[in-house]
Amino acid sequence: MNEHSLRPATRVVHVGSESAAEHGDIVPPIHIATTYDQRGRDNPKYFYARGENPTRERLEAGLAAVENAQRALVFSSGQAAGMAALSLLTLGQRVLASNDVYGGTYSLFTLVQRAGTPITYVDLTDLDAAGAAMESDVKLIWLETPTNPQLKVADIAALAELAHGNGAYLVVDNTFAGPLLQQPLALGADISLYSTTKSIAGHSDVIGGSLVYNSDELHQHLQFYRTSAGNVPSPFDCYLIQRGMKTMALRVERQGYNAATLARELSRSPMVGTVLYPGLEQHPQHELAKRQMTAAGSIISFRYNGDVDTLLKRVQLWTVAVSLGSVHSLIECPASMTHRPIPRAQRLAHGITDDLIRLSVGIEDCADLVEDLLQALS
Ligand code: PLP
Repeated sequence: MNEHSLRPATRVVHVGSESAAEHGDIVPPIHIATTYDQRGRDNPKYFYARGENPTRERLEAGLAAVENAQRALVFSSGQAAGMAALSLLTLGQRVLASNDVYGGTYSLFTLVQRAGTPITYVDLTDLDAAGAAMESDVKLIWLETPTNPQLKVADIAALAELAHGNGAYLVVDNTFAGPLLQQPLALGADISLYSTTKSIAGHSDVIGGSLVYNSDELHQHLQFYRTSAGNVPSPFDCYLIQRGMKTMALRVERQGYNAATLARELSRSPMVGTVLYPGLEQHPQHELAKRQMTAAGSIISFRYNGDVDTLLKRVQLWTVAVSLGSVHSLIECPASMTHRPIPRAQRLAHGITDDLIRLSVGIEDCADLVEDLLQALS
């Protein structure tokens, strides 16, 4: 069967998970060998497992297929995937980045900046500002959309055009939406980046990352980079990620339903100021979100009118923890948790205020989630 004719929710179950030839296992075996017997083989495909591993390749086939892409490479974490994307730059080439990014991404940028890669932060939801910041040395636009933690939505197709006009790559950190709700490559991006730790694996039990793309030239570089840097995930982690991925469509649908319900409930609470969720009509980029995403996703942020420490002590069902996209519902305060690596003044200037709360909505019964959150807020 031609995999491209299948819908994404079917592809995540089947592609890369085809039964194994020898015994017909419908779950492929986990290949743990670190090296391969070369005797009697001409041009062997497998040589040493840092470079080649069949379990990893199955996960990569599955991840590429979700976006109908030619290629995916997996890494030991989302951060490692991010570092691999940044390795496309040579000394002095500039990154133009969303000014609302994951705190760990900010740390990664601080690291590469120290080594000679200048970074310019700009609000990429403002295309005029993005255009004005597009100096000739910009060779990579790093876009998060929706952004972490403020759920701003930027126009992927317009930014792809801007990047390509300057001979730059557009890298979209698509971790928040995930590949079922938003497909950056189809909108013109060069690379979709994922922390597969999140909605792809979906169970808060494995760290991983991935880059998905359509270019052989990119593949040559990224494969060389990964084999040289050695930031590969273990075969068991690849298996776990692929196992989780098979239920992604179901999880994402349930999470989206729960999140939309919660966003409406929060909007009605006198204890809540602005609710930041692209699925709400009052969200500033709601129309754009409707155009480039198939649904608004599972993350909601809001400004809380009460005492944040008390709120985080009162929740019972919601777990106070960083991360997102899992079956469990999580609540956190970006200023003191996910985004604490960003200096306070810079955080405040970009709207990451101390009263901002971020929710990652899980797959529990929505009524329980609403009840627990409302009792904790009041
Ligand atoms: N990108 C985003 C948007 C994230 O939220 C995270 C982690 O929270 C990462 C990248 C980094 O991923 P990992 O923790 O798998 O290294």
